[in-house]
Amino acid sequence: MKEKSSVEIFDRNYSEIKKNIKAAAESAGKKYEDITLLAATKTVDVETINHAIKSGIEYIGENRVQEFLSKREEYAPCHKHFIGHLQTNKVKDIVPYVELIHSVDSVHLAKEISKVSLKLGKVTDILLEINIAGEESKSGFAPDEVCEKLVEISKFEGIRIKGLMAIPPICDKPEENEKYFIRMRKLFIDIGAKKIDNSSMEILSMGMSDDYMTAIKNGANMVRLGTALFGKRDYTKTGKGV
Ligand SMILES: *Cc1c(COP(=O)(O)O)cnc(C)c1O
Repeated sequence: MKEKSSVEIFDRNYSEIKKNIKAAAESAGKKYEDITLLAATKTVDVETINHAIKSGIEYIGENRVQEFLSKREEYAPCHKHFIGHLQTNKVKDIVPYVELIHSVDSVHLAKEISKVSLKLGKVTDILLEINIAGEESKSGFAPDEVCEKLVEISKFEGIRIKGLMAIPPICDKPEENEKYFIRMRKLFIDIGAKKIDNSSMEILSMGMSDDYMTAIKNGANMVRLGTALFGKRDYTKTGKGV
């Protein structure tokens, strides 16, 4: 049997995902339009990405600097986000081209984004990444330090804190991560209530292919989907990644 092309895989998955997002949004008392679907496009070829954009995907997120830079000129018009771990020395390569950086995991990184943005005369929107399960292997702010760090970061010019992002542990059942989504939502609401200058809790970016419905039910308003949209990743094309 002929293997399905990535475009066919996308078409089949996208309509299903839209239905799932709508159902999950409604279970959280929201509408489909309240949820932003971001396509996580690592290892996906530009042709497929542009097909996705033509089909209605408005937001894409890359998570590796080199891959983003090699693809960015070919993307059809869309909102471009950076969602991967970012080293300080790569900030200058990314900031000119992206609207939102999801993965700000240190004061040091935020300061560099501020510096580069000021130089370019632009304001870069950022999310603070939270290491919600306290995993050794993951970066991100600890939940109990984020408020203090956010106050520090909010003083930097050239950036705007727009919300929080998390990548909960890989698990077999989506319900296992529900407690982390619940914690994230609480943090999001608590921080929002403090009304810290130069920060607004508008975006709660959590939920990936295996658990996006659980995430939406628990307050996510931006989900980042790769595999669910494009099928299993083929790292042989782009080298090893996350
Ligand atoms: C790859 C990636 C995703 C999407 O992962 P899937 O499980 O394939 O949906 C989401 N967020 C980040 C930060 C990623 O790197």
